[in-house]
Amino acid sequence: MQNLLDFDRAALEAEFVAAGYQAFRARQVLKWIYHQGVTDFDLMLNLSKAHRAWLVENYVVALPEVAVSRLSVDGTRKWSIRLTSGELVETVMIPEGSRRTLCVSSQVGCMLDCSFCATGKQGFNGNLSTGQIVGQIMLANAEMAEAGDERSVTNVVLMGMGEPLLNFDAVLRATNLMTDDLAFGLAKRRVTVSTAGVVPGIRKLTEHSEVALAISLHAPTDELRNVLVPVNRKYPIAELIEACRDYLEVLGERRSITVEYTLMKGVNDSVQQARELAKLMRSLRCKINLIPFNPFPGSGYERPSDRAVRDFQTVLIKAGHSAMLRTTRGDDIEAACGQLVGQVADRTKRQERYRSRPVPVGQPVEQQIPIVELSDQEMKGVQI
Ligand code: SAH
Repeated sequence: MQNLLDFDRAALEAEFVAAGYQAFRARQVLKWIYHQGVTDFDLMLNLSKAHRAWLVENYVVALPEVAVSRLSVDGTRKWSIRLTSGELVETVMIPEGSRRTLCVSSQVGCMLDCSFCATGKQGFNGNLSTGQIVGQIMLANAEMAEAGDERSVTNVVLMGMGEPLLNFDAVLRATNLMTDDLAFGLAKRRVTVSTAGVVPGIRKLTEHSEVALAISLHAPTDELRNVLVPVNRKYPIAELIEACRDYLEVLGERRSITVEYTLMKGVNDSVQQARELAKLMRSLRCKINLIPFNPFPGSGYERPSDRAVRDFQTVLIKAGHSAMLRTTRGDDIEAACGQLVGQVADRTKRQERYRSRPVPVGQPVEQQIPIVELSDQEMKGVQI
């Protein structure tokens, strides 16, 4: 049995044609599922009886199951979703005026192990399927309706657990569904893929998609970024920026890249570093999002003072950049950036490694930052 939610329009058409059905039938089925909310093939009455029977025999519409649902005082909702493996991944809905932004996960854990991210500490145990990714949107819409919210998801950011570009095929299909009028019908600029800097993934995206792109930069120099975002050792800043420029070339003049910069006290939050960042980003049409570090137990990092954050922002703005402060949402329910952990059957033994070698708080920066080399197995996933 295959999950029908794993297919985008092109894949479903190919599937139907290969089985001897006409391509437009795929479009009818998509409409049933995503517009009418009908997941029972027997109710899809504009299909022939034989076609319905074939669907029942070979496919299911498998929606993820909510294990835990939490509501923040600020209205943010977090759902822990149980996979058939028993593991949990997390999805966060952030309401803001009429906007409903859903932060979806793309992997069970993450391979990349950025030094300040709780998800990385969980290690990694695999990719989510397209159905498990778009299922998060369906589930959020259903849960919001149940909670009396008349709106459905308006924006999707792939900023939950995982590195979306290391799960390229499933993520591409999922974003195709998000932007397909026959499915979720979101504008391309309302769907954002966020990457820690997997350059070959950006290059591949350039050929296949026009969704919005965010990069998690966090440092103005390779020296520091190598430590905070270890994948930088493979794809340094200059290569990353060049790949972004090429992506923008395809998107056209009115679009820009979002640069995420998590501010950590005494690590990357100085005025000097703000100046370096301002200079570096001159070469890319971008909007800078500053994210004050969200703490989690044993992280070894601290959030800078409001004053330091403002000073950092001011330098960027004075240099002519658009620099927004991303307000912290949902931190009371561990739903803020970098706080998503779920429950991962860790294949990388990283959880153990961190437990046996906790990061000391209050040490000089160099010692504070756990330098963890990517293993060969982890690096393999990076070469896509
Ligand atoms: N792997 C992708 C998707 C995750 S997005 C990426 O790196 O872009 C999640 C964002 O939150 C990233 O920018 C990440 O660097 C940032 N982040 C991670 N841990 C954080 C923390 N503890 N506090 C604030 N931001 C954090």
